[in-house]
Amino acid sequence: MKAFIKEFKEFAMRGNVMDMAVGVVIGGAFGAIITALVDNIITPIIGAAMGGVNFSKLAITVGKAQIGYGAFIQAVIDFLIVAFCIFCLLKAMNKAANLKKKEEEAPEEPTTKECPFCKTEIAIGATRCPNCTSVLELNADIDLEPESK
Ligand SMILES: [Zn+2]
Repeated sequence: MKAFIKEFKEFAMRGNVMDMAVGVVIGGAFGAIITALVDNIITPIIGAAMGGVNFSKLAITVGKAQIGYGAFIQAVIDFLIVAFCIFCLLKAMNKAANLKKKEEEAPEEPTTKECPFCKTEIAIGATRCPNCTSVLELNADIDLEPESK
Protein backbone atom coordinates (compact mmCIF):
# COMPACT_ATOMS: atom_id res chain seq x y z
CA MET A 1 0.00 0.00 0.00
CA LYS A 2 2.87 2.35 0.86
CA ALA A 3 4.49 1.69 -2.50
CA PHE A 4 1.18 2.38 -4.21
CA ILE A 5 0.82 5.74 -2.44
CA LYS A 6 4.42 6.61 -3.31
CA GLU A 7 3.82 5.75 -6.94
CA PHE A 8 0.68 7.86 -7.01
CA LYS A 9 2.54 10.77 -5.42
CA GLU A 10 5.24 10.55 -8.08
CA PHE A 11 2.58 10.47 -10.78
CA ALA A 12 0.80 13.49 -9.30
CA MET A 13 4.05 15.43 -8.89
CA ARG A 14 5.05 15.07 -12.52
CA GLY A 15 3.31 18.34 -13.31
CA ASN A 16 1.16 16.87 -16.04
CA VAL A 17 -1.78 16.41 -13.71
CA MET A 18 -2.57 20.12 -13.59
CA ASP A 19 -2.33 20.35 -17.37
CA MET A 20 -4.60 17.34 -17.60
CA ALA A 21 -7.13 18.89 -15.19
CA VAL A 22 -7.19 22.09 -17.25
CA GLY A 23 -7.61 19.98 -20.38
CA VAL A 24 -10.54 18.08 -18.91
CA VAL A 25 -12.30 21.27 -17.78
CA ILE A 26 -11.71 23.05 -21.11
CA GLY A 27 -12.67 19.87 -22.96
CA GLY A 28 -15.93 19.66 -21.03
CA ALA A 29 -16.80 23.28 -21.83
CA PHE A 30 -15.76 22.71 -25.44
CA GLY A 31 -17.97 19.62 -25.59
CA ALA A 32 -20.95 21.70 -24.45
CA ILE A 33 -20.31 24.19 -27.26
CA ILE A 34 -20.09 21.37 -29.82
CA THR A 35 -23.28 19.76 -28.48
CA ALA A 36 -25.13 23.07 -28.68
CA LEU A 37 -23.82 23.61 -32.21
CA VAL A 38 -24.90 20.16 -33.35
CA ASP A 39 -28.25 20.13 -31.55
CA ASN A 40 -29.37 23.64 -32.44
CA ILE A 41 -27.76 24.38 -35.80
CA ILE A 42 -26.45 21.33 -37.64
CA THR A 43 -29.19 18.85 -36.79
CA PRO A 44 -32.04 21.21 -37.83
CA ILE A 45 -30.19 21.98 -41.09
CA ILE A 46 -29.76 18.28 -41.89
CA GLY A 47 -33.36 17.68 -40.79
CA ALA A 48 -34.59 20.44 -43.11
CA ALA A 49 -32.48 19.06 -45.95
CA MET A 50 -34.05 15.66 -45.40
CA GLY A 51 -37.54 17.10 -45.67
CA GLY A 52 -38.34 18.34 -42.20
CA VAL A 53 -37.71 15.18 -40.20
CA ASN A 54 -36.89 15.49 -36.54
CA PHE A 55 -33.49 13.96 -36.75
CA SER A 56 -32.91 12.79 -33.20
CA LYS A 57 -36.30 11.09 -33.06
CA LEU A 58 -35.74 8.91 -36.13
CA ALA A 59 -36.41 5.32 -35.14
CA ILE A 60 -37.50 2.00 -36.50
CA THR A 61 -39.82 -0.22 -34.55
CA VAL A 62 -38.92 -3.87 -34.85
CA GLY A 63 -41.50 -5.93 -33.05
CA LYS A 64 -41.65 -4.30 -29.63
CA ALA A 65 -38.10 -2.88 -29.74
CA GLN A 66 -37.52 0.68 -30.90
CA ILE A 67 -34.22 1.31 -32.62
CA GLY A 68 -33.37 4.98 -32.27
CA TYR A 69 -30.80 5.29 -35.04
CA GLY A 70 -31.40 9.05 -35.29
CA ALA A 71 -29.79 9.66 -31.89
CA PHE A 72 -26.90 7.41 -32.93
CA ILE A 73 -26.32 9.35 -36.16
CA GLN A 74 -26.40 12.55 -34.16
CA ALA A 75 -23.76 11.19 -31.77
CA VAL A 76 -21.58 10.22 -34.77
CA ILE A 77 -21.88 13.72 -36.26
CA ASP A 78 -21.08 15.13 -32.81
CA PHE A 79 -17.96 12.97 -32.61
CA LEU A 80 -16.81 13.84 -36.15
CA ILE A 81 -17.03 17.56 -35.42
CA VAL A 82 -15.11 17.20 -32.14
CA ALA A 83 -12.48 15.01 -33.82
CA PHE A 84 -12.11 17.51 -36.67
CA CYS A 85 -11.74 20.45 -34.27
CA ILE A 86 -9.13 18.62 -32.19
CA PHE A 87 -7.26 17.60 -35.36
CA CYS A 88 -7.13 21.24 -36.52
CA LEU A 89 -6.00 22.32 -33.05
CA LEU A 90 -3.21 19.72 -32.96
CA LYS A 91 -2.10 20.66 -36.46
CA ALA A 92 -1.88 24.34 -35.48
CA MET A 93 0.03 23.44 -32.31
CA ASN A 94 2.48 21.25 -34.24
CA LYS A 95 3.07 24.05 -36.72
CA ALA A 96 3.75 26.50 -33.88
CA ALA A 97 6.11 24.01 -32.22
CA ASN A 98 8.00 23.48 -35.49
CA LEU A 99 8.34 27.22 -36.03
CA LYS A 100 9.77 27.64 -32.55
CA LYS A 101 12.20 24.78 -33.15
CA LYS A 102 13.41 26.34 -36.39
CA GLU A 103 13.92 29.70 -34.68
CA GLU A 104 16.04 28.00 -32.05
CA GLU A 105 18.11 26.09 -34.59
CA ALA A 106 18.68 28.96 -37.01
CA PRO A 107 21.51 30.87 -35.25
CA GLU A 108 23.60 27.70 -35.00
CA GLU A 109 25.61 28.44 -38.17
CA PRO A 110 29.18 29.36 -37.21
CA THR A 111 30.65 32.66 -38.41
CA THR A 112 34.12 32.11 -36.99
CA LYS A 113 36.72 29.35 -36.92
CA GLU A 114 39.87 28.66 -34.95
CA CYS A 115 43.28 29.24 -36.49
CA PRO A 116 45.12 25.88 -36.29
CA PHE A 117 48.43 27.67 -35.69
CA CYS A 118 47.78 30.32 -33.04
CA LYS A 119 44.38 29.05 -31.80
CA THR A 120 42.68 32.44 -32.04
CA GLU A 121 39.19 32.98 -33.40
CA ILE A 122 39.12 34.32 -36.94
CA ALA A 123 36.51 34.89 -39.65
CA ILE A 124 35.27 31.67 -41.27
CA GLY A 125 36.15 32.84 -44.78
CA ALA A 126 39.71 33.84 -43.90
CA THR A 127 42.44 32.20 -45.97
CA ARG A 128 45.26 33.76 -44.00
CA CYS A 129 45.28 34.29 -40.24
CA PRO A 130 45.21 38.00 -39.31
CA ASN A 131 46.98 37.28 -36.03
CA CYS A 132 49.87 35.00 -36.96
CA THR A 133 49.77 35.49 -40.76
CA SER A 134 49.85 31.71 -41.33
CA VAL A 135 48.34 30.45 -44.57
CA LEU A 136 45.39 28.31 -43.49
CA GLU A 137 44.72 24.69 -44.49
CA LEU A 138 41.82 25.72 -46.71
CA ASN A 139 44.41 27.30 -48.97
CA ALA A 140 46.90 24.43 -48.82
CA ASP A 141 45.95 22.96 -52.18
CA ILE A 142 46.30 26.29 -53.91
CA ASP A 143 49.92 26.80 -54.85
CA LEU A 144 50.79 30.36 -53.97
CA GLU A 145 54.49 29.87 -54.62
CA PRO A 146 54.83 27.00 -57.07
CA GLU A 147 58.01 24.95 -56.64
CA SER A 148 60.19 24.85 -59.72
CA LYS A 149 60.65 21.36 -61.06
ZN1 LIG B 1 46.85 32.31 -36.43
